[in-house]
Amino acid sequence: MNRHDPIRHPPSAGSQALAPIQDYLVEIHERVSKIAGGAPADYIPELGKVDPNLFGIAIATVDGQIYSVGDALVPFTIQSVSKPFMYGYALQHHGRAHVLKHVGVEPTGEAFNSIVLDDAANRPFNPMVNAGAIAVAEMMKGETQDQRIANMIELFSSLAGRKLEIDDAVFESERATGHRNRAIAYMMLNTAMIEQDPEQVLDLYFRQCAMNVTACDLAVMAATLANDGTNPITDHKIFDTQYVRDVLTVMNSCGMYDYAGEWAYEVGMPAKSGVSGCIIAAIPGQIGICVYAPPIDRQGNSVRGISVCRDISREFQLHAFYNHTNVRSVLRRDYRADVVRSNRLRTLEERTLLAEEGRKIAVLEAQGALFFGSTEQLLRKLNALAQNSKYVIVDFKRVHHADSAASKLIVRTVRAMAGGDTDLVFASIDNDRPLDGLIRALAETKEGHGLRQFRDTDAALEWCEDRLLAGVGSTAGTKFALHQINLFDGLTAGERKLVEGIVRPLVFEKGDVIMRAGDPAKLFFVLARGTVSVEIKLHGEGGRYKRVASIGPGLTFGEMALLDGGTRSADVIANERVVCYGLGVEELHELAKEHPNVMITILGNLTREFSERLRHANEEISVLE
Ligand code: GLU
Repeated sequence: MNRHDPIRHPPSAGSQALAPIQDYLVEIHERVSKIAGGAPADYIPELGKVDPNLFGIAIATVDGQIYSVGDALVPFTIQSVSKPFMYGYALQHHGRAHVLKHVGVEPTGEAFNSIVLDDAANRPFNPMVNAGAIAVAEMMKGETQDQRIANMIELFSSLAGRKLEIDDAVFESERATGHRNRAIAYMMLNTAMIEQDPEQVLDLYFRQCAMNVTACDLAVMAATLANDGTNPITDHKIFDTQYVRDVLTVMNSCGMYDYAGEWAYEVGMPAKSGVSGCIIAAIPGQIGICVYAPPIDRQGNSVRGISVCRDISREFQLHAFYNHTNVRSVLRRDYRADVVRSNRLRTLEERTLLAEEGRKIAVLEAQGALFFGSTEQLLRKLNALAQNSKYVIVDFKRVHHADSAASKLIVRTVRAMAGGDTDLVFASIDNDRPLDGLIRALAETKEGHGLRQFRDTDAALEWCEDRLLAGVGSTAGTKFALHQINLFDGLTAGERKLVEGIVRPLVFEKGDVIMRAGDPAKLFFVLARGTVSVEIKLHGEGGRYKRVASIGPGLTFGEMALLDGGTRSADVIANERVVCYGLGVEELHELAKEHPNVMITILGNLTREFSERLRHANEEISVLE
């Protein structure tokens, strides 16, 4: 989408799914319409001409949904609500140190247009009062005044997601009468807080205050702050996250003129108010709000605006200090490999060993966002599991965010556990989710390099099982002779000889497709050496394949052919050089005509194998559900 495409129209009132919020806005608009009091600002003569009954509310979500009611598409001048955005621009283009030299971050007890600077540093107190905002206006980039104006308009347009314009009548009106601001600018020239011609700086400042916006525009701009500096409509990144935090901090302490303290107490949302009668508020990670109603109170805040914001904050529990987090929800579940095994099909011997020893492998599934509190929970659980495990697998598949605190704590854990009694194994830390900070942090540590990582928990489990089995002397990995294969248990020596007679030894190289879904099923296979993967194509996932099982020596695959004679239901691919025995279904049937016991024994063994798999699957389901 073009950066300046017009913003989407508010949803129609008939849209059922959006009804709860839309209905609420209609109700509150009606209720607050009855509140009188205050008067439109008229110290800028042009502002005094506004219709005092205008009243619009808009809410924009961090993914660009807009709810609105009343006069939400009526233009008005942004006035002081421009200040936090100009401050964000200054931080973004000059860095914190430079900006802090010219403007502080202390709330003042003085009025927004006071002519006082802080005694010690001679600086304006903060960027939300006029003195601070004028000092910030000087930081707009551009060689000429025209370029600076164009850059300022571009900034606000990109914040709103559409091309904005200056209201010339309001601009001229303030330029002609704004002598108090003129006094402030000259005083700052005197203290070297500004260096350019004050008239030029004021020209830009008056223009920025005269940008024409609607309540919907301002809701989108506030949502840009709520969305870490990215415009939710255009996806255009305007401010770095670190600077958004700075902007919201000063809005929180200084955004509401002399009402800031009470606002923080009652409403508790970082906000900014303008004398045209608008208020914006940003709730990080959730929404941006704008209320526009021109009559303002003695402190300069929209009377209806305050009322609406107070109500929204209470109704939807949006006060900044309301606790929405539950750190324990990071723990999805944990289990051990005696009950939940990998998708690797195992021989009877291996299954028995894993049933006894599998407790030594623990799997811990994390979910949600990893930040200090939730990571502490996760690592405490990890530590408890590690006490009686040889391997602990941490599954990150359902983690959608890890901040730098989480990365640091996880790296410390990896370091502390390196070389210890318990091996730490990570699964599903890949790049299709925002875990790149954690990936980078791990890559930067020596121990992180040694850490075992797998694309999913199944692969991690298989690896841990193999290690465990190797440790207890399993025969896995060695080549199986026909007589060692469970499928042929119970055959007499003579019958086994007959079967051997129709077996074809086959060799496949790594990556070879041994069978493909849909092919006619003519052979079934007994694996003598190496492992193969069984993969199915997922519906609707862009042709992605999922590995549903892996099979090792001593086991069979493609045996369904023997039962239903249909077509293959999955692909089977060699994971490495594979040796197997192929048995022709027709030849076996032929053989069984004269030696029916061969078929009865083989089918009996297959049935036992299937019922065993089913029983185990049921047990797994009872743990995983
Ligand atoms: N342009 C106005 C002034 O400087 C903005 C004041 C405000 O909205 O607080 O007086």
